[in-house]
Amino acid sequence: MSSQKFILAGVMGHPVAHSRSPVIHNHWIAQYNLKGSYVLLPVEPANLQDALRGLKALGFAGCNVTIPHKVEAMKAMDWLHPVAKQMGAINTIVVQPDGALHGFNNDGFGYIQSIRDAKSNWKADTGPITVLGAGGAARAIVLSLINEGASEIRLINRTKSKAEDLANEFGSVVKFFDWNERHTALSGVSMLVNTTNQGMHGQPNLDLHLDDLPTSALVSDAIYIPLETPLLESARMRGNPTVNGLGMLLNQARPAFQAWFGVLPEITPDLRKAIAATF
Ligand code: NAP
Repeated sequence: MSSQKFILAGVMGHPVAHSRSPVIHNHWIAQYNLKGSYVLLPVEPANLQDALRGLKALGFAGCNVTIPHKVEAMKAMDWLHPVAKQMGAINTIVVQPDGALHGFNNDGFGYIQSIRDAKSNWKADTGPITVLGAGGAARAIVLSLINEGASEIRLINRTKSKAEDLANEFGSVVKFFDWNERHTALSGVSMLVNTTNQGMHGQPNLDLHLDDLPTSALVSDAIYIPLETPLLESARMRGNPTVNGLGMLLNQARPAFQAWFGVLPEITPDLRKAIAATF
């Protein structure tokens, strides 16, 4: 019998059945011949703190946390990574040998890495960046763009007060605009990022015309179902380089897998195929 330890990890959310994370992590467990499993952990909000405290007793190396637990889960952490503190949310928990819970947020890392995977010489400070949306994905993406040195971020959200709150929190690099200014706020940008849910499977398309967008601007969408949103399709048709949301999802998983399973995994064409097969 192999002496290799069986390692357990999972994703805690409510609902959580739709999560692609088990496909990603179980693919890597098999690829690297490890003993372990990554499971769905459906946990109602009222049971979150008890469930997190039970991770150590159940033998978990850690877990991801997703909607609606990303903020509340912070309360159970014994230590928070500075980026998670800055973001005000966690998506990864690592159980320490002494049982302490350490909280991380890899969403911003995943986003930046996905852009670099698509464009290795990408830099955040080559011009203004327009970001649509001011929810959880926007927080992670805007902060990571600031940390990468972005010089001007034009933040536009349907509910303007939320964009204003983020701008106040993140400082003068972030300027907020009215939702009805979204078309013209594309003028002269080096990058456009959609972090709203518009264009996601089951949602209406994002109502945005790209006439003012330079054709050199990189267009990225946090959405990964479908892989090519109507926004990315329109951008591609007019010659803009595009990046979909799958790379963000895959890249945020890499450091978590390394922390739990001890191997920094690669994103291979086979993994992309396995994920695409679930859509
Ligand atoms: P969220 O916190 O609920 O934020 C939703 C955003 O969409 C808000 O800014 C909201 O504006 C906007 N929105 C909703 N309906 C709208 C409409 N009809 N018109 C214009 N804007 C509208 O959600 P989230 O967690 O940020 O997720 C947003 C998207 O990112 C989702 O599609 C999600 O799948 C994707 N995502 C991808 C990854 C990845 O790894 N690739 C990670 C996280 C999220 P209001 O403030 O006005 O409501």
